[in-house]
Amino acid sequence: MDIPRIFTITESAHRIHNPYTAGKLAMLGAALRLNAQNRILDLGSGSGELLCTWARDYGITGIGVDMSRLFSEQAKQRAAELGVADRVAFIHDDAAGYIADVKVDVAACIGATWIGGGLDGTIELLEKSLCAGGIILVGEPYWLQVPSSEETARGCLASSIADFRTLPELVAHFQDLNYDVVEMVLADQEGWDRYEAAKWLTMRRWLDANPDDDLAKEIRDELTAEPLRYVTYSREYLGWGVFALMAR
Ligand code: SAH
Repeated sequence: MDIPRIFTITESAHRIHNPYTAGKLAMLGAALRLNAQNRILDLGSGSGELLCTWARDYGITGIGVDMSRLFSEQAKQRAAELGVADRVAFIHDDAAGYIADVKVDVAACIGATWIGGGLDGTIELLEKSLCAGGIILVGEPYWLQVPSSEETARGCLASSIADFRTLPELVAHFQDLNYDVVEMVLADQEGWDRYEAAKWLTMRRWLDANPDDDLAKEIRDELTAEPLRYVTYSREYLGWGVFALMAR
């Protein structure tokens, strides 16, 4: 079981697979006022940066579930590197339907809400692992400015304008689901650049090392097109943030 190889090639050098920087991740951890009693579940935990750094900085314990073999392996290595391998565990598995054996104080899905079939389904899934008074964390894109055409939305790699809400619509939606929005830390363009532009050098180096690979043409085409696509569309139109929710 694994995710499509294209992602493990383009994001092999990323510690955070989202438009977040290390600084934003630390800011979010501080904002949540975590302590060593807190248990965290992270669905789609990627290379484990959230759990590993929060275990180091706040002493939390946690479990991450991710379908990428490479990212799960990198997460375990990162835990060892930061000296927190006794506090965090990473499971290589499909997180769809995953419910923690022991309820957690924080249940997160950061930039992978397809795991629960979309935003609402993922919130419902996370809720099943959460203790009373716990916090749900979801990382989601939103429109910074609504695209004027469907073509622009597709330029942002959305299938249509309807894929995302504006920030006010997103916050209103959480409230409609009967949650208090108790914190949020939003990404900025620098975070987007770190996420997107870091893929370009990774792709270039991979191409130089793997010219005859089956995916070489696809990666070549992506490296050729991505910088211009990104600065024309996503960078201008897409926001991203992590929202902390507590059931009312
Ligand atoms: N939350 C991490 C990773 C976000 S990228 C971070 O912020 O760095 C999305 C992640 O979801 C990838 O690591 C991918 O491997 C994982 N993923 C995709 N489908 C999944 C599934 N069905 N179950 C578990 N993980 C999945």
